Amino acid sequence: MIIQPKTRGFICTTAHPEGCAQQVRQQIDYIQAQKKLSGPVNVLVVGASTGYGLASRITAAFGAGANTIGVFFDKPAEGARTASAGWYNSAALERAAEEQGLKSHSIVGDAFSDEIKSKTIELIKAEYGQVDLVVYSVASPRRTHPVTGETFSSVIKPVGEAYSNKTVNFHTGEVTQTTIEPATDDEVRQTIAVMGGEDWGMWIDQLSAAGVLADGAITVAYSYIGPEVTHPIYKEGTIGQAKIDLEKTAIALNEKLQASGGHAYVSVNKALVTQSSSAIPVVPLYISALYRVMKDKDLHENTIEQMYRLFSEHLYSEKGADEGHLIRIDDWEMREDVQEEVMKRWAAIETDTIDELADLVGYREDFFNLFGFQTAGVDYEADTDPAVDIKHLV
Ligand code: NAD
Repeated sequence: MIIQPKTRGFICTTAHPEGCAQQVRQQIDYIQAQKKLSGPVNVLVVGASTGYGLASRITAAFGAGANTIGVFFDKPAEGARTASAGWYNSAALERAAEEQGLKSHSIVGDAFSDEIKSKTIELIKAEYGQVDLVVYSVASPRRTHPVTGETFSSVIKPVGEAYSNKTVNFHTGEVTQTTIEPATDDEVRQTIAVMGGEDWGMWIDQLSAAGVLADGAITVAYSYIGPEVTHPIYKEGTIGQAKIDLEKTAIALNEKLQASGGHAYVSVNKALVTQSSSAIPVVPLYISALYRVMKDKDLHENTIEQMYRLFSEHLYSEKGADEGHLIRIDDWEMREDVQEEVMKRWAAIETDTIDELADLVGYREDFFNLFGFQTAGVDYEADTDPAVDIKHLV
């Protein structure tokens, strides 16, 4: 069939297998053009199919020659419905890993469940012995608790008082004022349950209890801080409360892992277009302005460049990781000259000035790239089979 993008707001309900494969190949090419990494060896990435998790898996596999296990929640094609982008990305990654003689497996299912954790542990025991790096990169709107059975939903809202600011419809370029009412206490609680650290902790505890965490193992989860203009909706909002919980988990996990020479970190990453970030009000407009400024200053990075920097300068560097549990690879985004320029532009951005002051074209392109569209070298008029198998699917 001919596969075209079908968007509904910040969601695209179709994905292109060739385009996703091409996006994965570009990330692999970037990593293979860099200096080889000195580690890790056996890696588990939870939330491995898109965004930062996919880039982490590619960095480990093709940058260090590591064996990788990816856990993710994606759907295969069914009839005329395409698979999700993460499915196609993972299929391409597994093919490339096999071609390069790297061992890898993929597990599709709910990472929050005990069933998927047990399945992963059995796989590690049977095929890998132990893992020495666990990347936790799940971003989800919902979580069912494995013990209580309660299903939580996360919301992106301010805490305490309503928040008003500019936002953009990135499809049309229309800039409007938006007001988001504050979350209730229960919404805060539920968002922490979905995006906080409890599930990360459960993974590490269960891997450790099963004896499949190597001595000296590292684990890392991802966070975002961002500039003041987004603080009410991010850092000080519901998601920020969840990230505080994630940091607390890192401190607790660090204590446990240190006994065997290991570490737990939270890496604070740059704001980038991913399926998760495009759902946050105000943030796409900020990202568009940020892209323009960082591209002009030749500082722009995507997920793969960020992950290479995380691995090469922090996790597997002679310098070692930062002191404490926080790693800052948002340092270029947060540079004073970058932020000053973004804020100057922010004040002036309106519908008729957005193309001049921000990089909405780049934002849109990145958004469509996430689903395998608008990718050079792909024939979008060609008849394409949406049914693609993932090799080494357990
Ligand atoms: P993403 O939406 O691209 O990726 C989320 C991943 O989680 C996918 O692989 C998806 O399959 C997986 N997933 C979702 N629900 C799952 C479930 N129940 N079981 C198994 N897998 C599941 O998101 P992203 O933007 O890469 O976010 C990853 C992390 O990075 C998050 O913690 C996010 O807060 C953080 N982060 C993102 C940004 C940004 O700008 N995008 C910046 C800094 C930090």
